[in-house]
Amino acid sequence: VLEINDLRTHFQTEEGVVKAVDGVSLRVRQGETVCIVGESGSGKSITAMSVMGLVEGPAGRIVGGSIEFAGRNLPDLGKNELRTIRGRDIAMIFQEPMSSLNPVLKIGQQIMEPLMEHLKLGRKEAYSRAIELIGQIGIARPEQIAESYPHELSGGMLQRIMIAIAISCDPKLLIADEPTTALDVTIQAQILDMLRQIKERSNMSIMLITHDLGVVAEMADYVIVMYAGKVVEEGEVVDLFQSPKHPYTQGLLRSKP
Ligand code: ATP
Ligand code: MG
Repeated sequence: VLEINDLRTHFQTEEGVVKAVDGVSLRVRQGETVCIVGESGSGKSITAMSVMGLVEGPAGRIVGGSIEFAGRNLPDLGKNELRTIRGRDIAMIFQEPMSSLNPVLKIGQQIMEPLMEHLKLGRKEAYSRAIELIGQIGIARPEQIAESYPHELSGGMLQRIMIAIAISCDPKLLIADEPTTALDVTIQAQILDMLRQIKERSNMSIMLITHDLGVVAEMADYVIVMYAGKVVEEGEVVDLFQSPKHPYTQGLLRSKP
């Protein structure tokens, strides 16, 4: 589904060039969950943002490599094409739910928008689909939640809403950047459970960024370890857990509670 080859994403800063992503190659196959682990600043989020086309700016730029999705190189696509793919075919969940929710728009409305934009549903259809989606993410009174504003809901609830929005158009690939880091453990487990169920139903692929080896053990088919903008180790979960090769991975496993 997704194939990244020798991706390099740099930032121009006052101190010079930051090679946030420095030659990353990875692939995510249909129906597979690939976890990306690595210490803070190793380039995990910027890799994800590069796929989503969200790094291009005055300072940030993809300077090399390719990101192939469904046979097309994403960085070559125009803004409109990319916008269609993003949201419909590839969806992303961010660590901080409020960063992508609109604080002054009702939840129901925010779930309806991508349905109307990408699936061209009418308002009524979009509304009933939104209610259905809220039900699917395990929320008891969907109509009531649809009428709420983001600030009226808890963090765990908002993260579920983010997932509902992300899966609303049946994406082929879901990118989740530390989707549970900010939540307490019971809610964390519920959210992971939900992701797993959704995945089983839809056979979508997931690229999951996490610090948490528990999450890796539970979710991953394949693991990518990043360090200083590079992939330093990768493999099946069992192999990686049993015989980590890179010092960072070894350290990570030693620190596992
Ligand atoms: P974390 O686990 O803390 O989320 P990460 O692996 O996701 O870390 P990235 O956010 O991908 O790390 O950042 C990779 C590197 O790129 C870091 O050194 C960071 O300082 C740098 N970086 C990210 N965004 C910018 C920016 N807008 N301008 C300059 N440097 C940046
Ligand atoms: Mg990050």
